[in-house]
Amino acid sequence: MAREEYTLKTNDQIIRMCEAGEMVASALKAIKDNIKVGMTSLDIDAIAEAEIVRLGGHSNFKLVPGYKHTICVSVNDEVVHGIPSKNKVFKAGDIISIDCGAETADGWNGDSAMTIVLPGGDAKLAEVRNKLSAVTEGSLWAGVAALAKAKHLNEVGAAVQKYVLSNGNYGILEDYVGHGIGRSMHEDPPVYNFAVRNSGPKVVPGLCVAIEPMVTAGSKATKVLGDGWTVSTKDGLDASHWEHSVAVHEKGIWVLTAFDGGKADLAPFGIVPVDPRNI
Ligand code: MG
Ligand code: MG
Repeated sequence: MAREEYTLKTNDQIIRMCEAGEMVASALKAIKDNIKVGMTSLDIDAIAEAEIVRLGGHSNFKLVPGYKHTICVSVNDEVVHGIPSKNKVFKAGDIISIDCGAETADGWNGDSAMTIVLPGGDAKLAEVRNKLSAVTEGSLWAGVAALAKAKHLNEVGAAVQKYVLSNGNYGILEDYVGHGIGRSMHEDPPVYNFAVRNSGPKVVPGLCVAIEPMVTAGSKATKVLGDGWTVSTKDGLDASHWEHSVAVHEKGIWVLTAFDGGKADLAPFGIVPVDPRNI
């Protein structure tokens, strides 16, 4: 598929995607409410799986060839694509990025990620890790806010980059980027987390994208571990990953994977999301 060819969604289709998004939000909330030191990454995979099935959906990560789990769990220097394992036991102070996706019974997809810093451990390290996560999450919302006003999609990446770099000496991954979402979890167009030369596709009603900054405490350089999946920083420094799926529609935007559509986090930007189910 050429770079700028992608499917715009109708409002009825975006409404179906709200259900997919809320499944993912519920799964991540269930993890956030239950995760603790001593659990394994396989334990929280089971939490997400149970929640998605309870809501009538299924894992779309399992539809990725060769992947057998509902979430990816990336700890400390791991950035994305960490495989849940019973041998991966969470320790006090770990910085853990959890990426989750779900598909409704009628084939609509949601995709979202969050980072959690477990309590305990060294106080100074916790402060540094919490700031890394906060800057990454802040950059995600800066990107969503940019999308709400953007003429072209690549304004999102410029906003993400500006936010990250104005908050410290961080790295932004370029090897992995966001994407369109809809009938598949991964669709065109790509969504960069940094400024690029071309302006990208026009932002028009029906555009649905997953924005997902991956930010490191050091270099943007990554390596894939021996398991063939896990992406970690080359310099061994910490990383954070936050993601939301967002719909652009006739009346505005709606963050599909946030229970409030992004209302609380977009308020500081003066942006009021509009629920596509109410238009
Ligand atoms: Mg994801
Ligand atoms: Mg994604």
